Amino acid sequence: MWADLEPVGRDPRGGYRRFAWTDTDADLRAWFDAEAARRGLSTTVDRAGNQWAWWGSPGRTHQGVVAGSHLDSVPSGGAFDGPLGVVSAFAAVDLLHERGHTPSRPIGIAHFGDEEGARFGVACAGSRLLTGALPVDRALALTDAGGVSLGAALAHQGRPVPAPDPDALERVGTFVELHVEQGRALVHDDAPIGVATEIWPHGRWRVTLAGEANHAGTTPLADRHDPMLELAALVADARAAAARHGVLATVGKVEVDPNGVNAIPSEVRAWLDCRGADPDAVAAVLADLARFAPVGESWTAATVFDPALAARLSGVLGNAPLLPTGAGHDAGILSAAGIPTAMLFVRNRTGVSHSPAEHADTADCHAGVVALADVLAELTR
Ligand SMILES: [Zn+2]
Repeated sequence: MWADLEPVGRDPRGGYRRFAWTDTDADLRAWFDAEAARRGLSTTVDRAGNQWAWWGSPGRTHQGVVAGSHLDSVPSGGAFDGPLGVVSAFAAVDLLHERGHTPSRPIGIAHFGDEEGARFGVACAGSRLLTGALPVDRALALTDAGGVSLGAALAHQGRPVPAPDPDALERVGTFVELHVEQGRALVHDDAPIGVATEIWPHGRWRVTLAGEANHAGTTPLADRHDPMLELAALVADARAAAARHGVLATVGKVEVDPNGVNAIPSEVRAWLDCRGADPDAVAAVLADLARFAPVGESWTAATVFDPALAARLSGVLGNAPLLPTGAGHDAGILSAAGIPTAMLFVRNRTGVSHSPAEHADTADCHAGVVALADVLAELTR
């Protein structure tokens, strides 16, 4: 499966560029369908555009246990963030077949679209559309860097207008997302697999800094209205405020107009990502940055995964460590929608993620497949 995915959506700058509702995305969807067909699993696409493969026939009174994740990436993203969860789900189904397991409930594999929000700016757009957390009108109006709306991108791919899909959600009795760890807690715990307890609250804000375009060679310093200086202040202030309040803040995306080496910018737009265990501390950082007039683009409250389920899965996996995460996931959206949800993390020796250097050892990936199979077997005994 990795060999088939390896060439899909290579980023010329390294790693992967797998954005939602592109031809690359269509290739990933075809890959998912082919893997499901290879195993004789039936496939459906929900009204929000997410893909499902089923072993058995789920229904309202016969809910399934679903494993899955996403296949899209950030720009220059790594190979594991997302695909590891989908590949491991297919491999876990193979392992259950090898073991002769007969599930008491249907087992599903899900592929959620547009998890990273790299193209249209809203993370977990596929799962949020599914649950209704992202209103359809708002989603359709989102635009990418080229000015293409989400609605136009869907139409270009021959996809229908999305909608929430409560029927699809009702088929899911339990959801388990396996994901590469985005940190080094499991390295410190000396364990290949961990179980998530919660996702920290997190948000994104946009800052627009206005200036006056002018010639870099003829405009005296005193006469300049240079928004790049404000950007520098924003970055430094965000870092200092985050340290003060014990959270994380990042300015990772900037747009500069006109973006010329010999022009003072007319406008700079920057995006701030802020998250931490305590939502009040995140709010305090934003209050400290009020002079930059940040405009909220998304906010996700803390997601606490079903504690009894997490404890049970930890026990099944030989008392695997329990850990929180600062990264958002589709599992958080499903959990917030009331579905009993758990996450398994696979050790990442460097902790690097959202980078071509993202890596999990093959032995740890294999341990992840076995762990996921053990969990699916436990939940479908
Ligand atoms: Zn991910």
